[in-house]
Amino acid sequence: MDGEIFTIRARRCKRCGRLLTSKEAVERGYGCQCAAKARQEELERQPLPGQMNIFDFYNNNNDNDMED
Ligand SMILES: [Zn+2]
Repeated sequence: MDGEIFTIRARRCKRCGRLLTSKEAVERGYGCQCAAKARQEELERQPLPGQMNIFDFYNNNNDNDMED
């Protein structure tokens, strides 16, 4: 009977080390707040393609205006 306790998956958050209680959190590997923070950091690490396109578009427009 005691063995049944250990069949419940209890994992710790990869970020803060707190015990993860929900199934979703265990699957993610992060707690609710840490998952949001980890995701935010991932987004900040990647350059936003939209920003580059805006600058390219702006520069191209300027060049065209000068040539005309
Ligand atoms: Zn956490």
